[in-house]
Amino acid sequence: MPHKAKSRTRPEENPTKEGDFKLNEDALNIIEQAPEFERSSIVASKVRYSSFALRIVLIYLTIACTIAIALSDSVLSLFQISQEVLSWIAIAKIWVLIILSAGLLYYLIRNRTNILLEQQEYLKETLKKIQRLEKAHQLIIQSNHAIVRIRDKEQLLKEICQILSEHGQFNYAWIGIGESAEHQPDMIVTSDKNNHYLHLLLEGIHAASVNERGEPALSALRKKYPVIVNDVDGFSKKPFSWQTRALAFHFQSIAGFPFKMVSGTQGVMALYAKEKNFFNEEEVALLRILATDIGYGLSDIENKSQIHHAANYDVVTNLPNRQLYEDRMNQFISRAPYDKRYVGVIVIAIDNFSKTSESFGQAISDKLLTETGIHLSSLVRDGDTVARLAHNQIGIMLADVAAALDVARIAQKLVRPFSLQLTKEHEVKIHLHAGVAIYPYDGETAPALIENAIHALQEVESDSHIECGFYSQKMSSGIKYNQQLKESLMHSLERNELILYYQPIVDIRNRQIIGAEGLSRWRNANLGDVSPIQFITEAEESGFIIPLGEWVIKTACQQLIAWQQAEQDNFILTVNISAKQIMHPQFLARLNQLFEELNFDPKRYQLCFEIAESVLVNELKSAIQTLFELRRLGLKIIIDDFGTSYSSLSYLNQLPVNILKIDSTIVRNLGRDQNTHSLVRGILAFAKGMKLKTIAEGVETEQQMQMLVDVGCDYAQGYLFSAPVAVKNMESFFGKKL
Ligand code: C2E
Ligand code: MG
Ligand code: MG
Repeated sequence: MPHKAKSRTRPEENPTKEGDFKLNEDALNIIEQAPEFERSSIVASKVRYSSFALRIVLIYLTIACTIAIALSDSVLSLFQISQEVLSWIAIAKIWVLIILSAGLLYYLIRNRTNILLEQQEYLKETLKKIQRLEKAHQLIIQSNHAIVRIRDKEQLLKEICQILSEHGQFNYAWIGIGESAEHQPDMIVTSDKNNHYLHLLLEGIHAASVNERGEPALSALRKKYPVIVNDVDGFSKKPFSWQTRALAFHFQSIAGFPFKMVSGTQGVMALYAKEKNFFNEEEVALLRILATDIGYGLSDIENKSQIHHAANYDVVTNLPNRQLYEDRMNQFISRAPYDKRYVGVIVIAIDNFSKTSESFGQAISDKLLTETGIHLSSLVRDGDTVARLAHNQIGIMLADVAAALDVARIAQKLVRPFSLQLTKEHEVKIHLHAGVAIYPYDGETAPALIENAIHALQEVESDSHIECGFYSQKMSSGIKYNQQLKESLMHSLERNELILYYQPIVDIRNRQIIGAEGLSRWRNANLGDVSPIQFITEAEESGFIIPLGEWVIKTACQQLIAWQQAEQDNFILTVNISAKQIMHPQFLARLNQLFEELNFDPKRYQLCFEIAESVLVNELKSAIQTLFELRRLGLKIIIDDFGTSYSSLSYLNQLPVNILKIDSTIVRNLGRDQNTHSLVRGILAFAKGMKLKTIAEGVETEQQMQMLVDVGCDYAQGYLFSAPVAVKNMESFFGKKL
């Protein structure tokens, strides 16, 4: 039986003192001492047995000699004893000596056997102990390997938990670390995916029950010394709630080993076994060493990440510094030519920064910089970098940009003035200037691009009318075009420059037209035909998409009414609805008003709203209510560009959707690679399961069409049948096969 470890260890025994963070090698010695200990005890018992045997033999000799002398002929001759009695005495003497010898022999053998049995028992016990210590030793070796190898806190704890359950044969293990030992640890990692026990334990902590705090692992964390309970069942007659719960999971032995990190963060290693008296004293000593080593490993990771942070981040704003900014930029520059992408470098300066610093002081100017950094970070994508380059210069790197003009558009968005509450009394309007350089046009290395962006910034910094300076001329003229586009778009509706085009949608089995998608077109006297991607993006950014979208719906309704009069019943007409429209608080009210004005009953027509999958994925929570209302009105919902958002499909269960429109990028790859074929098959199987219809968009070849027929797609749309056309041309297709 293993020795029962003490239920509580005294506080002064706690090994996790500050600065006590060296890897402990003593584990080996402890294990090697064990056989040494057995050997010495065997020698001692040998000595004991020899002296005992000597004593018995001496007693035997004394008794035998006494009898031999007392019953010798010369002594007996002193008495007047008959010859017959004398011969009896001689025989009896021999028998007495024989019996005495036999008794002695029996006594010695029995004694020896008992000692051998005792020794065997002892050896068995020791062997068991050695095996347990060997396992604990393995635990320490494996864990120390992990400590040396792994540089991420959570991953390290995960690996140690894994080692604990594999090599330590604990039924459950968790390690928690947190700022305060009094509260639930901030990070908890466990050996098991099934964390039912831990959840219940944490619920208990939330409930702030005093009983819960007695759970051995939690009290070890709180008291900062190891707590071991080797008999949960017998711990208290009237069981605490933690006991009842531990027993429900069949845990009979629980131990908590606290540790401390250099930063002061507290932690605990919690171990659970279903066997009673699982933790013996030697093992406990090793587990305490392991806990200390974990504290050391975590401290080391913290130190290294602090050093990395200090070398790469700005102290005031906590933004990456120029070094890290350049490193990241170089990474993207090396990939950009292969991905056919641009890298945008924007350097931004805060107007009147020096004046603000002088009037408000250092603390406020630091706040101004920090808040501006936060503001700019909120306007760019996750993969982009916002860094502090110099005193009053914040650098932004736009990674992975598809079109050079996008950089210009984003730069213009970034320099829009914003309000900042600098002090309780002072809310100030912050004005910014930016200089822009673009890889590959304006430089091939990070330092060259940054210098050129700074150069562009200096050119415009003193000009209150121009906020963005571009290093290249080409970009400047692009910006002028954009500016013109922006202004003209605002007047496009009143000047009747917008037209709705229609692209036929056909039934895939017989190529009969069943409907069309309405797509906006804009022809401006100065700009010519502007691509929808360009003006729709601009309209979304400026908010013009709201009147534009309303015009599209109105035109589509009027067209459906007209077509119904031309006996085109059940003709499906779809229009694109942008995220901004869906999210607009007045969207439903305006829609109802429009239907009323036009005397349009959506239940009598097949009007469909196309909403991009990305919108649904990103804005699901806020859009869901509106979608249900649209369905209630009698409108159908199509998920446009389906298959491009890498989203889980689970969100679809919650939505009132009628049709999935498979994105043209997927359709284009049909027949080119096997994965796309499997993807389309998957989408169709999923759609069938959900009882949704499918449209494939961007169908350009007969081969694509054939594959779509094979996989059972319902409808198709694309240049194979017709490009988007004006209303008259569309009408000429009615009743035809394409
Ligand atoms: P979308 O809704 O995915 O529309 C499909 C786009 O694919 C259209 O581009 C269409 O002309 C094009 N297309 C059709 N068949 C083929 C084909 O076989 N091959 C190829 N390569 N392309 C094909 P378009 O008209 O340039 O519109 C682009 C995007 O602009 C639309 O994508 C839609 O998201 C948006 N859009 C267009 N009109 C409106 C509108 O009135 N409102 C809103 N919110 N967005 C619109
Ligand atoms: Mg569409
Ligand atoms: Mg689409």
